[in-house]
Amino acid sequence: MAIEMQAPKGTKDMLPEDAYKWQYIEGVFRNVAKTYGIREIRTPMFEHTELFLRSVGDTTDIVQKEMYTFNDKGDRSITLKPEGTASAVRAFVENRLFNEAQPTKLYYVTPAFRYENVQKGRLRQFHQCGIEVFGSNAPSMDAEVIAVAMDTLKKLGLKSLSLNINNLGCPECRPKYNEALKKFLQENYDGLCDTCKSRFEKNPMRILDCKEKKCHEITKNAPIILDYVCEECGDHFGKVKEYLDILGLPYTIDPGIVRGLDYYTKTIFEILTSDFTVCGGGRYDKLIEELGGPDMPAVGFGMGIERLIMTLEKEKIEIPKETLFDLYIGARGEAEGKFAFKLANDLRGLGVKCEINHMGRSIKAEMKYANKLGAAYTTILGEDELTNKKINLKRMSDGEIFEVSLDNLEEIAKVVR
Ligand code: ATP
Ligand code: MG
Repeated sequence: MAIEMQAPKGTKDMLPEDAYKWQYIEGVFRNVAKTYGIREIRTPMFEHTELFLRSVGDTTDIVQKEMYTFNDKGDRSITLKPEGTASAVRAFVENRLFNEAQPTKLYYVTPAFRYENVQKGRLRQFHQCGIEVFGSNAPSMDAEVIAVAMDTLKKLGLKSLSLNINNLGCPECRPKYNEALKKFLQENYDGLCDTCKSRFEKNPMRILDCKEKKCHEITKNAPIILDYVCEECGDHFGKVKEYLDILGLPYTIDPGIVRGLDYYTKTIFEILTSDFTVCGGGRYDKLIEELGGPDMPAVGFGMGIERLIMTLEKEKIEIPKETLFDLYIGARGEAEGKFAFKLANDLRGLGVKCEINHMGRSIKAEMKYANKLGAAYTTILGEDELTNKKINLKRMSDGEIFEVSLDNLEEIAKVVR
């Protein structure tokens, strides 16, 4: 008996009827990125596990609970990438792109893998559009990166967007904050989940991002890092806000966001729709050096494509549908069928999207099928058409007929496209 196969939990097939949505969203994102001079980078789907331990951080949820890690046949520990930043930084360092004139502005569209509790907007393979900008300290760059995300979301037609920002400080000011936080958490240590207990010494800030209810309760009134940042981080944040004001981008300061990755410094941000956090990012000035590169600042974001699509659907924002076929060529007999076969091939050479009958359908069934496919024009080849070298192109939207010569393929292409 045949086994009924199913896709693994937390994964989704992207069927042809949905692929146009993906292409559209990616296209909007790519075009926005281009207006900022951001160029594409493609990195491998998997990396050495060590890369994520060192970048995402070994006390994060991602590393502690969510990574797809396995030993390959050469006994190397390999991990499917849970996010895009670490790989981009690794590639930047490994290929010595830091020797070129800066900044380096990169974008990517990539799958990411996390072993999560599957629920609405939370998959195990999901996809991100993201950018990473290396080499600039400037607060204007933080604002520009946020603007790329906002431009993309607005171009997609999303309106009710909230931009939340926070300042995570730097290795100068964070130890002081960590001490204050530990002091506060000390009293409730026993009430923390086991994972957070293990984070207490090493990385108490991670406890603020714990999804466990009891930890969330405990941290509600915790001291906030904004009260502890050093002068430089404070100044930087002030200027980021100024640049956001210049762009007319409203924001809310949310001292509660710490983000789920360890590498962030200074500015972090999230963009929320009515249902989801669709985008998260921030500055990570120490990561390039941490991964063996020079001391170079960086800032970027990742945006979840599945959540974007769900939001567009919920807000009833139409994604322009592509015409699948410009022209459907029907044929009455065998000779006409062969002619149609060659004609379709020649028209495709001119960029016309066309289709012929490969199913042995009757003319009537063919036209019904062409209609179902949403062909913009149809034509039927019979003996007369081949003898007179003239065909009728029927515009399906209103039934109007255009007579064209079979000797002039350019003209046919012009009419139907
Ligand atoms: P969340 O707080 O919702 O878990 P996150 O902080 O883990 O998000 P990031 O690592 O910043 O998310 O990833 C950037 C974006 O990728 C998120 O804003 C979201 O849109 C998307 N994303 C993250 N995890 C998933 C997932 N498991 N399934 C679908 N999309 C996801
Ligand atoms: Mg998460």
